[in-house]
Amino acid sequence: MRVAIVFVSFILTLSGPAAAADASIDELRACLGQIRPEAMKKGVRAQTFDGALAAIEPDPSVLEAMSFQPEFRVPIWDYLAGLVDEQRIADGRAKLHEWEATLAKAERQFGVDRYTIVALWGVESDYGRVMGTRPLLRSLATTACFGSRSGFFRSELIDTLRIVQGGELAPDLLTGSWAGAFGQTQFMPSTYLRIAVDFDGDGRRDIVASVPDALGSTANFLRRAGWVTGAPWGYEVRLPAGYRGPSGRRQKQSVAQWSALGIRRLDGADLGTEGSAALLLPAGAAGPAFLVFKNYDAIYSYNAAESYALAIAHLSDRLRGAGAFKTPWPTDDRGLSRAERREVQAHLLGLGFDIGHADGMIGSKTRSAIRSYQAVNGMSVDGRAGGRLLEHLRKAIQGRTTTDAPDTGLCAASGPGAPAGCSRPN
Ligand code: CA
Repeated sequence: MRVAIVFVSFILTLSGPAAAADASIDELRACLGQIRPEAMKKGVRAQTFDGALAAIEPDPSVLEAMSFQPEFRVPIWDYLAGLVDEQRIADGRAKLHEWEATLAKAERQFGVDRYTIVALWGVESDYGRVMGTRPLLRSLATTACFGSRSGFFRSELIDTLRIVQGGELAPDLLTGSWAGAFGQTQFMPSTYLRIAVDFDGDGRRDIVASVPDALGSTANFLRRAGWVTGAPWGYEVRLPAGYRGPSGRRQKQSVAQWSALGIRRLDGADLGTEGSAALLLPAGAAGPAFLVFKNYDAIYSYNAAESYALAIAHLSDRLRGAGAFKTPWPTDDRGLSRAERREVQAHLLGLGFDIGHADGMIGSKTRSAIRSYQAVNGMSVDGRAGGRLLEHLRKAIQGRTTTDAPDTGLCAASGPGAPAGCSRPN
């Protein structure tokens, strides 16, 4: 659903040719004209349709986001380090306290544990702080009329119109990710209509402004996705040496079978004999391993990516008081928290790289600056913000401060993101 955009891109893996870059208003009008009768059939009144869409224009930045192909595959340890960091754990514990009564009620009513509800909230919208600012109607009119998944988005556009018509949410509250996920739960409009609940009792399902509605709706989602009350999502396990057996979310077998293959719980507890489970090896057999159950699948259905579901599951454990995974990731260059990512960016800015401001989001400008920095400092050039880069930057900044020499060979190569005065002669 996305902190906000990143995660939506997991559910909506958009492939195929880039969407039409020159989407015109005329094309949009013609396309909306075709959608109109379909919307009427689904109960949208003409007045609602025309009122909401008459002045709408295509949003080229949505098409750009839609066709974006990441140039960089984020390693699982980076992904988790950014989502499950000390700040998000501390914030989550504060929210558990603040919303104790609401969460207790959600546990009673939906049977879903409070730690998972809060973990989802924390990852989806950073506890309501980041919900996306793009007007949903404009984004969805654009994706419904241009691009490779128009059928899906057309239906979401019609559902957005149904929400507007229903009057539960004012249209100006309906902003979200480019793909249409909105509110503190980052539900798609169809999910909202199907799943959202009024949990504060004011008669409106408001997952944008009402925390209780957002928490209740998240709990309802998980319950409808098959949540088993009181059961674990899974746990970390140890593999027997040289394990070559099955793994992956779909490779389910009984716990007894896993036990027979030599899989053991890392905390020493018995695997038991009940239920069926899958073995996850997110970084291969050399990294942490997990046996996962139905509740992991329930989380997965929120956003279909194994790494996403593992992040939620792990954050829920951390909120419950558990520690980090026991098995290290198979790397000697650890992932960074959001605070550390901001520190990397602050150092790059201090060195004169033009990367905007230090927002902790490692985008193409930051990666480009990192590549430049790595190149002139004899590091392997991959554009990745990891532990080794951070240490190098800290030393460089420290050296600069102590020698008081403004340009000490830290100049990057010329090119985008290079500091002023660092261009090399041709
Ligand atoms: Ca409400």
